[in-house]
Amino acid sequence: MPSHDVLIIGAGLAGQRAALSAAEAGASVAIVSKVHPVRSHSVAAAGGINAALNPEDTWESHAFDTVKGSDYLGDQDAIEIMCREAPDQILYLEHLGVTFHRNDTGHLGTRAFGGASAARTYYVADITGHAILHVLYEQLMKRSEQIDRYEEWFTTDLLQDEEGRCTGAICRNLRDGALEVFNAKTTILASGGAGQVYKPTTNGLIVTGDGIAQAYRIGAKLMDMEMVQYHPTTLAGNGLLITEGARGEGAWLLNAEGDRFMEKYAPNKFELASRDVVSRAEQTEINEGRGFSDGTVALDITKVPRRRTLEALREIVNIGRDFAGVDITLEPIHILPGMHYIMGGIKTDSDGETTVPYLYAAGEVACVSVHGGNRLGANSLLDTLVFGRRSGAHAAARALQMPMPSTNSSRVAETGKHITAIMNRPQGGRRIGAIKNELGETMNEYVAVFRDEAGLTKAHEIVRRLKEEATVAAIDDRGSVFNQDVIAAIELGYMLDVAETIVVGALERKECRGAQWRIDYPGRRDDEWLKHIDISMNGADVPLVSFSPVTITRWEPEERTY
Ligand SMILES: Cc1cc2nc3c(=O)[nH]c(=O)nc-3n(C[C@H](O)[C@H](O)[C@H](O)COP(=O)(O)OP(=O)(O)OC[C@H]3O[C@@H](n4cnc5c(N)ncnc54)[C@H](O)[C@@H]3O)c2cc1C
Repeated sequence: MPSHDVLIIGAGLAGQRAALSAAEAGASVAIVSKVHPVRSHSVAAAGGINAALNPEDTWESHAFDTVKGSDYLGDQDAIEIMCREAPDQILYLEHLGVTFHRNDTGHLGTRAFGGASAARTYYVADITGHAILHVLYEQLMKRSEQIDRYEEWFTTDLLQDEEGRCTGAICRNLRDGALEVFNAKTTILASGGAGQVYKPTTNGLIVTGDGIAQAYRIGAKLMDMEMVQYHPTTLAGNGLLITEGARGEGAWLLNAEGDRFMEKYAPNKFELASRDVVSRAEQTEINEGRGFSDGTVALDITKVPRRRTLEALREIVNIGRDFAGVDITLEPIHILPGMHYIMGGIKTDSDGETTVPYLYAAGEVACVSVHGGNRLGANSLLDTLVFGRRSGAHAAARALQMPMPSTNSSRVAETGKHITAIMNRPQGGRRIGAIKNELGETMNEYVAVFRDEAGLTKAHEIVRRLKEEATVAAIDDRGSVFNQDVIAAIELGYMLDVAETIVVGALERKECRGAQWRIDYPGRRDDEWLKHIDISMNGADVPLVSFSPVTITRWEPEERTY
């Protein structure tokens, strides 16, 4: 049985940063990932990472922009920590070898991003996540005496002792199907978001909400689950992302009549208003008949000098050519708002501690809450690094003062029985893929940019039915080697749990704030709704709702305009 001071589940940017910081603090570390670490979804991050590093910029300005972007739902103590620590994270990465863009004077160069009052996004062309992930992975390998990597191992369940403390996890080796208990003094979930709950989404197939559901199932509180971000520029049909970096470099949004419509919705910031604001503006243009016949509006990147596009936005040049047949340096490309990010997640404090003792969470799986109702572009990579580092350090310090727990390995037998039961399901029920498609399309129809009671209630009924259907959905592969059918069946269960918590949260919040836009409850209602919605399991398979206060340190809520 592998036993470590700190077990980290997930090897994207949050997990890798946590592993390095736990190792630096002297802990023995295991890091588990269901895919090779450099295939983690952080690799897709394109536009950059925010920090007030420029001498003319201030962390306070970054923090205020983040608070305003969150529509005042973000916890200001955590936002202050994130923005204060941001410059150090950029320098740490640069010193490790991340080749951030440099300007003509040789200094680190920035680009503008939405909702920011200064150009403070540091970037590597439009492959920022790729560049950072590979550099951190080199450091994991360098520290291989302290950090054991379990690549292509899938965590199925978290473990608890009789007092409810987390004592590690059960993981399945994807190569041969073997199940193993990973014993740990402290456990950090860094298993990413839940984009696949929607269809389409900008998120890859591996982003299935595993950690959120695993923590929820053992009693951890989730928070802000209703806050799901629709990114303003995704390709119709497949959901591929056209990075906000394009608008940061000067691209315009146009409706089918050729109007630069953002002038109407955000007269000061135009295309660089917050994402929720831009997505609603686009959806309004489309709904009111000023979009194109394919249900889109246009992003005109020809406003950016061609040479600059080819240098700084080369991945979206490829995406435009390969997936839309458009040369974005010559003509506008059709886009629409698409599901991109979940602001909610496992409720944590600013050291990553969840409501379950010895269980931590960091990155997109967690909700600190620094993003509140709406995340600013380029603040997520920052979140992974700042709170990954803090969780790793805190979990290590705690672990070094504790004895190793003794885990009862009988839980492995239970998980084994569950997996065998999945494999032995009789053929005939609905396919896993069909259930997943219906889930994604339902969420995209009823739990999207605009929401109302009737649509949310319908979505909830469908999710409940799909939960039933999922318990008997048959699979084809009964083997043990790289059995992705079994994994898909388990992931479907996680996605359905996450979907239900999103819908329940959205039904509960009766106002318009950030990404939660209830057309049946117009306006932001601070008197009643300036609070977080927490969701936990009450043992009866029905999400239990409670509330917690928003922390305000210095910025009282104001009207939000751009
Ligand atoms: C296309 C795209 C572009 C983006 N661009 C930007 C950007 O420019 N700037 C920005 O700030 N943000 C950006 N984001 C958001 C940002 O990339 C993510 O929020 C962030 O990278 C998430 O990192 P993470 O470490 O939390 O999770 P991930 O990188 O998703 O890593 C999750 C890890 O958990 C593992 N895992 C999951 N489930 C299990 C399981 N059951 N068992 C074992 N392992 C498991 C995975 O294998 C993986 O290693 C972008 C997002 C997308 C989709």
